[in-house]
Amino acid sequence: MAERILIIEDEIKIADFLRRGLAYEGYKVEVTNDGETGLKAARDNAPDLVILDVMLPGLDGLEVARRLRSGGETPILMLTAKDTVSDKVKGFDSGADDYLVKPFAFEELLARVKALLRRNKAADQTTFRFADLSLDTSTREVSRGGRKIDLTTKEFDLLHFFILHPRQVLSRELIYDRIWGYDFGGESNILEVYIRYLRSKLEAGNEPRLIQTVRGVGYALREE
Ligand code: CA
Repeated sequence: MAERILIIEDEIKIADFLRRGLAYEGYKVEVTNDGETGLKAARDNAPDLVILDVMLPGLDGLEVARRLRSGGETPILMLTAKDTVSDKVKGFDSGADDYLVKPFAFEELLARVKALLRRNKAADQTTFRFADLSLDTSTREVSRGGRKIDLTTKEFDLLHFFILHPRQVLSRELIYDRIWGYDFGGESNILEVYIRYLRSKLEAGNEPRLIQTVRGVGYALREE
């Protein structure tokens, strides 16, 4: 069955471009042109993916994403203009799973769409890879290249969260929410401590750093 994609974009030219391209790829596409209509469409009949513009009349994309996120797990690909790429969008505090800066090539969008749909489908996936790092959630084994790495439960959970969101900036708040599960307080430095542990274990064989600090925001799993 064709996967359904909901587009929420007020620029008709872009909405048409997306609808045509995605329909051609075999997706079932619905287009709405403002936040409220989009939100209603998503709630009435949950799509497999939402493509959401940040700048919308009425409810903006960040607000739509927040409300969508509180109601379900539909992946959200956010579209944003270059000058409005804020840490909010990047860090997906808003609830977006990925973002794309306008203007973009259709092929690039399609790759993101496929990745997000795959990620959602692969909820029972147990092996994750990034660069030379691999992590298996069924055996709880972690390795870099061929080198086995022993992690504590929290270190493992933290690395698992990073590898589920490769290359994305994860804010400190988001990481605390997901890994520690309750408000640890902005004063806590436990995250920094765990990042230090993880880095020293991941880099014990002199491998290049994979967990990068994003100053003032948080951390990202990416190559230097
Ligand atoms: Ca717009």
